[in-house]
Amino acid sequence: MQEPIISEKQWLRVQELREHRRRPTKTGRTSLFSGLVYCPDGGAKLHFLAAKSLRRNQEFWRCSNYKDGRGKCQIHFIRDVVLERIVSEAVGNLADFVRCYEPVFLYQAAKKNAAVRKTEQQRLKRTVESGKARTREIDGIISRLYEDNVSGKISDERFMKLTANYEAEQKELERTVSESENTLSEAEKQSVDLRMLLKGLREFTEMRELTPTIVNTLIKRIEVHNNDKYDGHCHVKVDIYFTAVGMIDIPTEKEIRAMMEEIRNHPQEFKFTA
Ligand SMILES: [Zn+2]
Repeated sequence: MQEPIISEKQWLRVQELREHRRRPTKTGRTSLFSGLVYCPDGGAKLHFLAAKSLRRNQEFWRCSNYKDGRGKCQIHFIRDVVLERIVSEAVGNLADFVRCYEPVFLYQAAKKNAAVRKTEQQRLKRTVESGKARTREIDGIISRLYEDNVSGKISDERFMKLTANYEAEQKELERTVSESENTLSEAEKQSVDLRMLLKGLREFTEMRELTPTIVNTLIKRIEVHNNDKYDGHCHVKVDIYFTAVGMIDIPTEKEIRAMMEEIRNHPQEFKFTA
């Protein structure tokens, strides 16, 4: 087992720092989602508005680029209690799905990010090890060539030609090794994220309530689309980006069965590291 690059303790510290960015409004009230809510058109922040004159269920979010209609964006209005209901439902659905079908969920997560697969990580580790070994070997070859050149066993011209080839090979190896190392560390980060997501979902299942810690563990970003009014109702589309997996569709029963079949048929291919 390789030591994780980021420990769970460090991971939690990052989330804690993020929570500290939650600035209370003039009334001292904050939203559970402070620091996480964005406009999908251009990525501006949504502002949380809570005034003394507003009751809890009137507190709302709006696009920071709206500027009372004079800005370059639409309002992206959503009441905080509505947002809470939407997020709570989405988290509840994901928690239920993961509780019942954890292997299927991990399979889905791995499909989104191939590097999370154990087999892929093992392949990358082998690439790094063999690349480094070959680089050392070439160092040895070059220094022996140098000695042979100094002692007159091989000509200057031959020496230059041979070393140029070996140096080119080393350069190529360095590139491959550093790319593989980057992918591995990204995968490591992904598996820590995935572990934290599973932990946060279990906590939510126990408490059945969103707390700032649970929200910050589970969610990376929320985007509120502009209101569509039809059938006399408001329909707000909210995109929730979860830690480790981003936006995720809960599969239908048919899709779940198909994925279980795939997992059964390729047990080696789909070993996960979460
Ligand atoms: Zn906007």
